[in-house]
Amino acid sequence: MTYIAYSMKQAVIKRAGNCCEYCLITKDDTLFSFHIEHIIPLRHTGKTELENLCLSCPRCNLLKATDIASIDPQTKLLAPFFNPRKQKWVDHFHPDGPIIKPLTPEGRVLVNVLQLNSDKRLSQRTLMIKLGQYPCKIPESE
Ligand SMILES: [Zn+2]
Repeated sequence: MTYIAYSMKQAVIKRAGNCCEYCLITKDDTLFSFHIEHIIPLRHTGKTELENLCLSCPRCNLLKATDIASIDPQTKLLAPFFNPRKQKWVDHFHPDGPIIKPLTPEGRVLVNVLQLNSDKRLSQRTLMIKLGQYPCKIPESE
């Protein structure tokens, strides 16, 4: 586990507006604390700096692990993951009720590897929609 300064963690959480920057659930609604995620992991030369960090729910972070790309299920070509520091969520995904529809290769590989539309996640987001808590709004994505 990499040491990340408290002030840097707070900056990441504030910038994300308490949202998981991959699946858009809010930090306030989960029983588990969110993770500060290295978008490009240290093993792939990523650095512990604001431009390489994002806020992630535990499920997204654990499924992404140290991956940075995958095979696009549609084109069968290698595609990098959506990068929340370099790309806008709405350019790569479209929320359709609880379903996160990918719009690009970067979106498709992320939806696939992070299992963003698994039954468990859809049930959770369906409930959150009923409570008016989904999707979470990331301040800088507007
Ligand atoms: Zn998530």
